[in-house]
Amino acid sequence: MPTEPNVDLPLIDHHCHGVVPSDLDLATFEALMSESYKPPPPGTSQFDKPLGLVVRRWCAPLLDLEPFCSGEDYVERRRALGAEEVNKRLLRACGLESLLVDTGHRSDDIATPPMMADLSDRPAHEVVRIEAVAEEVARSGVTASDFPDAFTEELAKRTRDAIGLKTIVAYRVTFAIDQTPPTKAEVQAGTDRWFTESEKAGKFRLNEVEVVRHGLWAGGELCRDHKLPLQIHVGFGDPDIYMHACDPSHFTDYLRAMEGWEVPCTLLHNYPFQREAAWLAEIFQNVYYDVGVILNFAGPQAADILGEALEMGPFYKQLYSSDAFGLAELYYLGQLQFRRALKQHLDRWIAEDMCNVKEADRIVAMIATQNAERIYPLDQTA
Ligand SMILES: [Zn+2]
Repeated sequence: MPTEPNVDLPLIDHHCHGVVPSDLDLATFEALMSESYKPPPPGTSQFDKPLGLVVRRWCAPLLDLEPFCSGEDYVERRRALGAEEVNKRLLRACGLESLLVDTGHRSDDIATPPMMADLSDRPAHEVVRIEAVAEEVARSGVTASDFPDAFTEELAKRTRDAIGLKTIVAYRVTFAIDQTPPTKAEVQAGTDRWFTESEKAGKFRLNEVEVVRHGLWAGGELCRDHKLPLQIHVGFGDPDIYMHACDPSHFTDYLRAMEGWEVPCTLLHNYPFQREAAWLAEIFQNVYYDVGVILNFAGPQAADILGEALEMGPFYKQLYSSDAFGLAELYYLGQLQFRRALKQHLDRWIAEDMCNVKEADRIVAMIATQNAERIYPLDQTA
């Protein structure tokens, strides 16, 4: 009889992004370790924070370096090996079952899903970001009056090959918005305002609330019709976020509407609202959640965050993700931090006679793959 739970199962990384396929210098590598738009103050380094510590501790040995080498030495070794070799070493050491790749952010700078499949030697599926499709359609030269229909047609087309849709409504207009479906007149008025302002500014960046609502409901309908999950960015992110208004409990009306349509809604990252997310997963049949990426940024404190996510969230609702973007290190650390933190909690539960090894193994299997397999059509797309 095993005396410890097995946390080394293959994982479905249900929310991640492509890695940068080219070599990185120190400044670019550090920029990809941060959600800030600015470098740290002069004389300091991104390697001197919880994430920097775990990069140097756990990734350095995979590049044949001593643990806790300097950031400079780490990036120099990375360049000497070459980006492709580093990306392959780190991605193939993750023990992943498959990758669900969000292609909606800086997609020209990072590897596409087929490239990610090649680098990781695992299947990679595409998650389509609603707001990114809206911006692409707006930039394509359609008129404001043609936009609402042109956008929904393009979104429907892109959804055919997707494993899920994603919204970044929280980034663009926060969750504290009217969540009812907008009328045609509201969508047109919003589109007219958005086009006028974007043409003045010389770029289309979707921050017009009626157009975002149009996308939310068009996306929700497509998810309902194709039986796909809708991923929802929550909390933690770059300086575009107004964090206080990104508490997912502000989004209750929309989540409830999607419950009526049987659309699984996966709340991503969630920090610092992992408790709110776990509670929403408890009360709504369709709500799922993860604490991906936060485990990386929390470094040695990752188990604290995962512990809050485990406080009351049903085991059949939590998902694994790395939310890695740009750096293969974030993929590697995502799974390592997750496995270590989960094992730490389950070992304690067993020691306190609150759980046994068999139950712990069932919990790991649900979070590692079974929950994602229940909601994503993984066997239907290649
Ligand atoms: Zn992400």
